[in-house]
Amino acid sequence: MNKLVDKYDRHLNYLRVSITDRCNLRCLYCAPGGLVPKLAHEDILRYEEILRIIRIGVGLGISKVRLTGGEPLMRAGVYDFLEELVALDGLTDISLTTNGVMLHENIEKIEAAGIKRINISLDTLNHKKFKHITGYDLFEQVWAGIEKALALGFDPIKLNVVALKGHNDDEFVDLARLSLTYPFHIRFIEYMPIGNAQMMSSDYILTPDIRAQLSVLGELVPVTRKQMDGPAQSYRIKGAKGEIGFIQAMSQHFCHTCNRLRLTANGQLRPCLLSDKQLDIRGPLRSGASDEELKAVFLRAVEHKHESHHFAPGCPSGVQDAMSNIGG
Ligand code: SAM
Repeated sequence: MNKLVDKYDRHLNYLRVSITDRCNLRCLYCAPGGLVPKLAHEDILRYEEILRIIRIGVGLGISKVRLTGGEPLMRAGVYDFLEELVALDGLTDISLTTNGVMLHENIEKIEAAGIKRINISLDTLNHKKFKHITGYDLFEQVWAGIEKALALGFDPIKLNVVALKGHNDDEFVDLARLSLTYPFHIRFIEYMPIGNAQMMSSDYILTPDIRAQLSVLGELVPVTRKQMDGPAQSYRIKGAKGEIGFIQAMSQHFCHTCNRLRLTANGQLRPCLLSDKQLDIRGPLRSGASDEELKAVFLRAVEHKHESHHFAPGCPSGVQDAMSNIGG
C-alpha cells in the first residue's frame, strides 16, 4: 500500500533522482554562460546512500524511479549502480534521462543492466544550433546514440525538446515530423525559470503556439494516458509510428496529477521542482538514522507538497537551486 499520499489525495509513487550535478554540456537554459555551481564531492550522495534512500521509498510506495542529473552517464561507476538499482525489489519502472553525449559508447551497458526506457534531450536537429544551445558541437554523436538506442529496441525513446523562441522554434515541425518515421515520443517542454538560468520572457514559447505551428502536420489525435504516464499531454499524427507530447509546466500546469518526489544530488527530498522547500535526508542518514527515521523524512516531504505552484510564464520563479542539482 502506498503510504506517500498527500493531503490532496495524490499518490506519490515516482522518485526522480539526480545522481550528479556535473554535466558535459552547457545548455543555455540550464547553465547560461557556462556557469554551473558545483557541489563539493562530499556533499553528493554516495551510491549506497542513494540505494538506501530508494529502498526506503519503495517500502513506502515508490515504484518508479528516473535517474537524472547533471548528466547521469558522467558519474563514475554508474553502470554498476544501475545493476544494483535494477536488482532492488519493488521497482516496476526504472528509466534514465540523458543528454545522449555518452550514449553511443555506453548504451549496451545500460541495456545489460536491464534498463530499456530512456529519455534523451535533443533541442535541435542542426549541428550549428546544437553548438549554440549546448555549447558543444556534438549533434552527430548524440544522434548516433539515439539511433543505437532504437536499434537495440529501447522503448519508449522519448526525445525532450525545450522550446525556446528564437533558438529552435523554426524546427518544431521538423522535430515533430520525426514521429512519423520513428517510434519516438517527441516532447516539447516549456522552459521553466529555475536556478540562475532565468531567460528573458521574450525567449518563452508556450504550448498553444507550438501546437499552432504543428498544425501543418495534420490532426493531432490524443493518446489515452496510461497509469504511470508522466505529465505530457500526448498525441499522434494519423499513421505515425511515434507520438508528440507537450509538457505545459508553465502555461497549464499539471500539479493536480503530480505523483513525484525528487531526490537532489546533495541528498535533499524535494516535494516540488518549482519550490525550494526541501527536506534534508542526507544529514540524518549520515548521522546514523534508522530506516524508520528516514521514512519519517519521506512522510514530512509529502506533508510539504503544495497543491500547486503559482508561477506563470514570464515571471521569475524564485527557485534558487540549480536544475543540475535538482535533476529536472
Ligand atoms: N543531462 C540530462 C539531460 O540533458 O537530459 C539530464 C538532466 S536535465 C536537467 C533533465 C531535463 O531537464 C532535460 O530534458 C533538459 O532539457 C530539461 N531542462 C533543463 N533546464 C530546463 C529548464 N530551465 N526548463 C525546462 N526544462 C529544462
